[in-house]
Amino acid sequence: TIGMLCMDKDGDIAGVCTTSGLSYKMKGRVGDSPIIGSGLFIDNTVGGAVATGMGEEVLKTVGSFLIVELMRNGMSPQKACEEAVSRITSKNDRYKDFQIAYIAINKAGETGSYCIHEGFTYMKYQNKVNENIHSDYFNK
Ligand code: ASP
Repeated sequence: TIGMLCMDKDGDIAGVCTTSGLSYKMKGRVGDSPIIGSGLFIDNTVGGAVATGMGEEVLKTVGSFLIVELMRNGMSPQKACEEAVSRITSKNDRYKDFQIAYIAINKAGETGSYCIHEGFTYMKYQNKVNENIHSDYFNK
């Protein structure tokens, strides 16, 4: 998945994601990316989130919508991403076999990310500074 979250000079938030789906997927499988709320969700009054990884698990927890709702209730983007990952990892040990990563931004321009396993990196451009961020992760 390629996921992108943007904020313009007026503070308006937009997002997009695109994917080829999982390798060796079943014919007709629909992943999380085309389902608003799962692979991507934006509420311009709150913020946005986007997911990559094992779409079935993101779908079952409506992950991107969950992150935006947590931010609506005052959680930081970072903590909201951590909570969305924990909804998946707390269920059982199957998370050991797949990766999921989230990034999020809120209306204040604060950002966060979290994933299950080490290795998720993303680019952040803010205040004319480009950063390559190695996301914190759950399975240490
Ligand atoms: N989230 C995508 C899917 O499950 C896979 C990916 O991240 O590339 O279809």
